[in-house]
Amino acid sequence: MSQTAQIGAQETNARLAGQMRAGVYRGKDRVVVESVPIPQIREGEVLFRVAACVICGTDIKKIHHGFIAPPQILGHELAGTVVKVGRGVKKFKAGDRVVSFHHIPCGACFYCERKLFSQCAGYKKVGLTAGFDPNGGGFAEYVRAMPWIVERGMIALPPDVSFEEATFVEPVNTCLKAVRKARVAKGETVLIVGQGPIGMLLMLLANYEGAEVFTSDPIPGRRAASVRFGAKKSFDPSAVSMLDEIRKLTAGRGADAVLVAVPNPSLVAEALAVARPGGRVLLFAHNDPVMQLDFPAAAVGVEEKEILGSYSASLEDQEESASLVLERRLQVRELISHRFPLERIAEGLELAARPADNTLKVMIVHE
Ligand SMILES: [Zn+2]
Ligand SMILES: [Zn+2]
Repeated sequence: MSQTAQIGAQETNARLAGQMRAGVYRGKDRVVVESVPIPQIREGEVLFRVAACVICGTDIKKIHHGFIAPPQILGHELAGTVVKVGRGVKKFKAGDRVVSFHHIPCGACFYCERKLFSQCAGYKKVGLTAGFDPNGGGFAEYVRAMPWIVERGMIALPPDVSFEEATFVEPVNTCLKAVRKARVAKGETVLIVGQGPIGMLLMLLANYEGAEVFTSDPIPGRRAASVRFGAKKSFDPSAVSMLDEIRKLTAGRGADAVLVAVPNPSLVAEALAVARPGGRVLLFAHNDPVMQLDFPAAAVGVEEKEILGSYSASLEDQEESASLVLERRLQVRELISHRFPLERIAEGLELAARPADNTLKVMIVHE
């Protein structure tokens, strides 16, 4: 940064110096609401006031398993209002309502050329922070967006779309990418295992692609919601055999694709059994580096079933996922089941980790 730009940034920063409230991850199972400095922005950056931030399953994993080193401020499915822009920012101004991705691929490396955006080294660099090591920052009142996010990862909201709805742009993108990696096609029979908020989005999107979608979840409230939102039928895996049920529906063949949205290792062999010969199994929730998976080799080596993975969002689906949410082509609003103010974030995290019958998306809303 040049000397003059630095002085300019310091001047603007002085006007918004001060403290804010933030839910700070302080160690395994411990998020404490405390006062921290409002982030200072530099050239090309934007400071926005968070209005709503969803608690994502990955936040829960990081917090409950202590996967990351404290202190950190998590929360990456967020929307808010721009309060200040750094020198050189042309795309946004104070007062703009925005939704923001927290990482964006470089667009030029080996992986980006092959559209494997999540494997881009630049993508792994988180560009939203409320302080400490950048990790989203949506569990704080203010978030600083770095230049590459401002340029390519922030989207202005239409006036009639609420902040709460807008927070779905990132998870919808992530789920749309997964449904497309599983090559879900019109008329196919698809089983989505798990009807938590992400399983529910996968169901909505497989429906959007024209498939006949069946789901399963042990929680009765989730099965009822799944059918209400568009699943053909939702099975209780503790009461019926999913294999039998899906075979009955497919002349004994099995599902064309099975998407697993529960991080349980034993479900992989079951999903493979439910998939028809040559079918696809997409593991959406199995991202634990320590967990080992067991399945019969012949499922892959003889029956030619494919095991696929999908991680995070895709730049290719960014426009479509934004339009699905912002033009209300997907019913995402109904997926919000609980709202907590920042001061009660610990309760929200607890509920998201141990969902009740009616728990879907749990959101932190900042007044
Ligand atoms: Zn997420
Ligand atoms: Zn790249």
